[in-house]
Amino acid sequence: MGYDLERFVGYVNEGLLCSICRDVLEDPLQAPCEHAFCTACIHGWLVHHSNCPEDRQVIDVSLLRPLYRYMKNDLNRLQLHCRNREYGCEMVCSLESIDRHERECEYSQIPCSNAGCTVQIERRNLDGHLAVCEFRSRECPNGCGYTILSAEDTQHNCVAELRTELELLRSEMICRVEEAKHEMESRLDSQRRHMVQKESILQNEIEELKSQMSRMMSDVRSLMAAERQHRQELEQAELEKRELMELLKGLQKDCRLTTTEGSRKSNFRPLTRLESVKRKPREVTVI
Ligand SMILES: [Zn+2]
Ligand SMILES: [Zn+2]
Ligand SMILES: [Zn+2]
Ligand SMILES: [Zn+2]
Ligand SMILES: [Zn+2]
Repeated sequence: MGYDLERFVGYVNEGLLCSICRDVLEDPLQAPCEHAFCTACIHGWLVHHSNCPEDRQVIDVSLLRPLYRYMKNDLNRLQLHCRNREYGCEMVCSLESIDRHERECEYSQIPCSNAGCTVQIERRNLDGHLAVCEFRSRECPNGCGYTILSAEDTQHNCVAELRTELELLRSEMICRVEEAKHEMESRLDSQRRHMVQKESILQNEIEELKSQMSRMMSDVRSLMAAERQHRQELEQAELEKRELMELLKGLQKDCRLTTTEGSRKSNFRPLTRLESVKRKPREVTVI
């Protein structure tokens, strides 16, 4: 899709024209047969053909090369009009620099820079349009903090806007408070469950300790009773011992008497005394 020949000032060599579009070469490529084409033109052609459109020699995309340097120089030096000539641009420059000019050309149509605006306008008129563009926006002069599109300028009501926002914030706040409440409640619930569990565990432990304690108490009681009984038995034994000692003393006395008197009969008395002691019923203490 080359440059329109009409735009060029002066004679253009036939060799600098594309064999397909017949315009001046744009991004040229050259086939081995030395015919040159715009890149877009020859790529389009080779989709359905596999030869040179000029002389029918077989060609392939891989065989295409850049233009000879001298031809490239000739091409770059060609002078042409800006494509916005019909809108008033009178710029004529070399093919080499035409792209740079056209990107910045004051007569180029560009879209309005305001979001939402579909107006296309020449670059030189953009400032004028922006001043009246319906999609221009500015901060509210009354200080509510809103940015107002100029199309909505007359309908803007600071109080209504702020009230709507306040309502929004309020309902958001209520939501958040509800959420916090729910979370707190569920946390409390789980803590309560935990406490109940713990309490029952503690209760069981207490019961266990209580029964251990009562077992120990009864052990202590029976130990104390046994001790009391031992003591009484000891006392009893002491008593018996004392009686026996006395008896023994009596016997010894009798013995001395017998030896002095030489009587056999006197032996009977102490024996009967001993028998009486042995037969004496033992006192038994019961706790
Ligand atoms: Zn072409
Ligand atoms: Zn050819
Ligand atoms: Zn221009
Ligand atoms: Zn606009
Ligand atoms: Zn306002």
